[in-house]
Amino acid sequence: MTVRVRFAPSPTGYLHVGGLRTAIFNFLFARHHGGKFILRIEDTDTERSTQAAVDQILDSLRWMNISWDEGPFFQSQRMDLYRAHLARLLESGWAYRCYCPAQELDKKRKAAEAEKRQYKYDGACRHLDPKADPAGRPFVIRFKMPEKYPDHFDDLVLGRIPIDEERLDDWILARSDGMPVYNFCVVVDDADMRITHVIRGNDHVANTPRQILLYQAFGYITPKFAHIPLIHGPDGSKLSKRREAEYKKLGMSVSVQEYARMGYLPHALFNYMTRVGWSAGDQELFSLDEFVQKFDLDGVGKASGIMNPEKLKWVNAQYLKAEDDRALAEKLLPFLAEKNIVAPADSRLASIVACLKPRSNTLAELADKAVVFFIAPTTYDEKSVRKFWTPEARAWLSRLVELLPGMPISDEAAMEERFKKLAEEFAGGNMGKIAQPLRLALTGSTASPSIFSVMNILGKDECIARIRRAIAELPTLG
Ligand code: GLU
Repeated sequence: MTVRVRFAPSPTGYLHVGGLRTAIFNFLFARHHGGKFILRIEDTDTERSTQAAVDQILDSLRWMNISWDEGPFFQSQRMDLYRAHLARLLESGWAYRCYCPAQELDKKRKAAEAEKRQYKYDGACRHLDPKADPAGRPFVIRFKMPEKYPDHFDDLVLGRIPIDEERLDDWILARSDGMPVYNFCVVVDDADMRITHVIRGNDHVANTPRQILLYQAFGYITPKFAHIPLIHGPDGSKLSKRREAEYKKLGMSVSVQEYARMGYLPHALFNYMTRVGWSAGDQELFSLDEFVQKFDLDGVGKASGIMNPEKLKWVNAQYLKAEDDRALAEKLLPFLAEKNIVAPADSRLASIVACLKPRSNTLAELADKAVVFFIAPTTYDEKSVRKFWTPEARAWLSRLVELLPGMPISDEAAMEERFKKLAEEFAGGNMGKIAQPLRLALTGSTASPSIFSVMNILGKDECIARIRRAIAELPTLG
């Protein structure tokens, strides 16, 4: 049996991180088992589905390097198949037309609610002669529940799931406008696409009994089901789009495309999301090949996954460090452009990246830190000024301006040796006392990376100009 799985998003909004994780699990499961991964867009809800959402979902999957083997198929283009299947069920007696007026059913539903009992359709139209169609009257098509049906199904993640008889009635397969419902289309499609494993969020557990009954009615093989726990926010509550502003401050989002904007690398997000709810021992970082090799459903836990943005940042930082400087420089360009910095992805930018990537969690953070290499400081951190801008510091920097033209600025190791001697001469051997005021003059703060890298990247002329400017602009202390 060749494994065939699918990801079936509804294009009513952007790709959600929960949807992303479902996509990843299906993708990895297919790759692990040498099977096929199919993409199906469930756009039968014509009022809520949009082309923009379809585009965004596809873009997000592509950005994540999640590739599909078949599709995308669109349910809206498969109506003939659904109609043929509805006709089949009507013919075989597994479905019937129901002419009950909506107001009447509403009344019955409200009466059930008032009595606090579960509403079930009473089967009023169940025994109508299908040949005696009252022409012209609107109808829905209902499933004819069999007398006997299984009392449970076995889920590959959740285990034995009882089928709750209370919730099952002669449910609607197609509405009065002829539109088949989700629970119907999904079975027709999964059967038509020969899906072997349905891996999806556990918010669909309650739909599964109806779907299983439909497979039986059609005489189709029922796929295996694996319902994966949902993803919750850092405080353990359900992820909510309304709390997006709060999430952003923490460095996370409900929307996959926001992660690109926040400067996460796609494989870092892939790695992190896979680990929310799946584990293989204590290992945190996996290449794609390792994931493909190790991923299976037995590693998926039953408990809800909790988003931990700090961990996500850590994972991203690891991949930033490991990524090639030139490649990162390319990826940094849009983040710099947002700051009105137009720079080529040249060797200078690669050096900036090399110098900053060990200290950055995201590309956005890296871009923030890179600004100082393009724009000279116009303000200086007050606290550092108070601490380091002493008359001695000014004297040392004035001397450095004279020395710099003769110094090997591009040889960072040699510069470090020279500075050790200069520290003896100017600050009793205290490197901090000469390095901190220099950092302040060059970058406006004392929180820069290696001062030798900063000088090397800025070059002699720019260093001299910045030191002169600091001397001119900053008042002397004491
Ligand atoms: N279209 C459904 C959703 O977005 C998925 C249905 C399924 O996977 O069976 O929730």
